[in-house]
Amino acid sequence: MKMGRFVTTTHVLFYAIIMISCNHPKTTVLSNCNIPSHPSANSILLSNGKIIDIGSNLSADRSIDLKGGFVYPGFSDSHMHLVGYGKSLEKLDLVGTTSVSEIKNIVSDFYDKSNKWIEGRGWDQNDWQKIKYPTKEDLDAVAKEQPVYLRRIDGHAAWVNSKVLSICGIDENTEDPDGGKIIRDENGYPTGIFIDNAIDLIEKFIPKDTSVDKKRYIEKAQESLNKFGLTSIHDAGTDIETINILKELIQENKLSIRVNAMLNNNINDYNFYLKNGSERINNFLFVNSVKIYFDGAMGSRGAYLLEPYSDDKENVGLTVTSEDEVRKKVKIFNKAGFQVAIHCIGDKANRIALDIFEDTNNKLYRNRIEHAQIIHEDDIDRFFDLGVIPSMQSIHCTSDMYWIDERLGNNRVHRAYPWSSLLKSGSIIPGGSDAPVESPDPLLGIYASITRKDLNNWPDGGWFPEQCMTIDQAISSITEWSAYSMFAEKFYGSIEKNYLADFTVLNQNLSEIDPEDVPEVNILYTIVNGKIVYQYDQ
Ligand SMILES: [Zn+2]
Repeated sequence: MKMGRFVTTTHVLFYAIIMISCNHPKTTVLSNCNIPSHPSANSILLSNGKIIDIGSNLSADRSIDLKGGFVYPGFSDSHMHLVGYGKSLEKLDLVGTTSVSEIKNIVSDFYDKSNKWIEGRGWDQNDWQKIKYPTKEDLDAVAKEQPVYLRRIDGHAAWVNSKVLSICGIDENTEDPDGGKIIRDENGYPTGIFIDNAIDLIEKFIPKDTSVDKKRYIEKAQESLNKFGLTSIHDAGTDIETINILKELIQENKLSIRVNAMLNNNINDYNFYLKNGSERINNFLFVNSVKIYFDGAMGSRGAYLLEPYSDDKENVGLTVTSEDEVRKKVKIFNKAGFQVAIHCIGDKANRIALDIFEDTNNKLYRNRIEHAQIIHEDDIDRFFDLGVIPSMQSIHCTSDMYWIDERLGNNRVHRAYPWSSLLKSGSIIPGGSDAPVESPDPLLGIYASITRKDLNNWPDGGWFPEQCMTIDQAISSITEWSAYSMFAEKFYGSIEKNYLADFTVLNQNLSEIDPEDVPEVNILYTIVNGKIVYQYDQ
């Protein structure tokens, strides 16, 4: 009897163990690591893509030795362009070019007289010795028979050759479209530069990317982004085709970056969602937001300003969507439960967007202003008061600081990129890169946030250094604040129990090194959903 009971108990135990090991999902421990947000812990226990525990010497079915690396919540880019970034990896990269002749050399290398469009991106005449727009003749000299189409670094201007003008049927009789400008010579002939909505006159003739192209761009983009330590991004303007590709990648278990999609303000892209409401798939795709362009950009003098440009006294910039239209859309989308993100660069665009949100706003929608670059003093507190999130890209500050005083003049240039003022008033600032406008490298973003200097340490002491972020704020901007702005802060963006297991593992503690050393920090591991998607290879 005694014996029998023993046998039975052992059997029960035996089966119980089998049952537990079968039903219990496999656990993984990240061991031998430093966790700046949990200084007394050295390991993180994961299961099913989530954090189960954080503590000392935890054990699990499987262990990953992080070799003393510093574990941060997975870095998140709050504003970039996923397909555009992937595509840029296949285009002529003109970022950092210092003259027209350098660009001519690059173009001539790709010139094969075929009818395939030579596309490039990243030129910036403000970085050249002769600061003026280039011309079609510059390109004709090296590429006469093949269309050449080169977008400016901010995407708000395009430079083309004569072949493109003839393909598109553009000549001195072509009128400027609303919200756009064709730059002309003294006789009214187009010089080859197109600003803002005028770019559409050309875009419609460029052979469209197929869905196969787009899928390849996304796969290239995510691989590169994972290398930079990014585990999630906010896609600032997503079309329905891209959403379907992302769903396909999720199904194929191939998506290695979480995407918060801000839908394009285009009926074909948002109509389905307006009818059916927001969507979240496997915590890899979030659709709960619509992006609307309001004004242009500063580089091309399209940002909408309260007072005219200091270097163009007749010009206050432009709006690419009318104020009435923006107001109408905010009402419609908020009513349907969607967050609205409005692109605003100039101080007037920002003020009007705040007015619109004030009229229709409910803090629950966490409406956002993308870029929020130039903000009048009177409008700083309104962001926090109205619950409107300024979604900013610190690296734009250090790219623009060389010339923005010419655009704005000394009396108002301090209104540019006022991070500290916004943070002091209570706002959070989700941080992004606007890639492919800038590099998506989040360490460059952190460096710009805490120094307001370029990589050559210029200017001494930083550009309006009183507006710098602290290192803690800069880290929050690409972790928890990014999560908040996509309604995910209760399960994403921090290292806490039950949060998603996304981590960026560095070889240094960002809070303990000199700010100047931040760009040199190495990404040791990028972990998404508990899986290593990038590993540093020495
Ligand atoms: Zn953007």
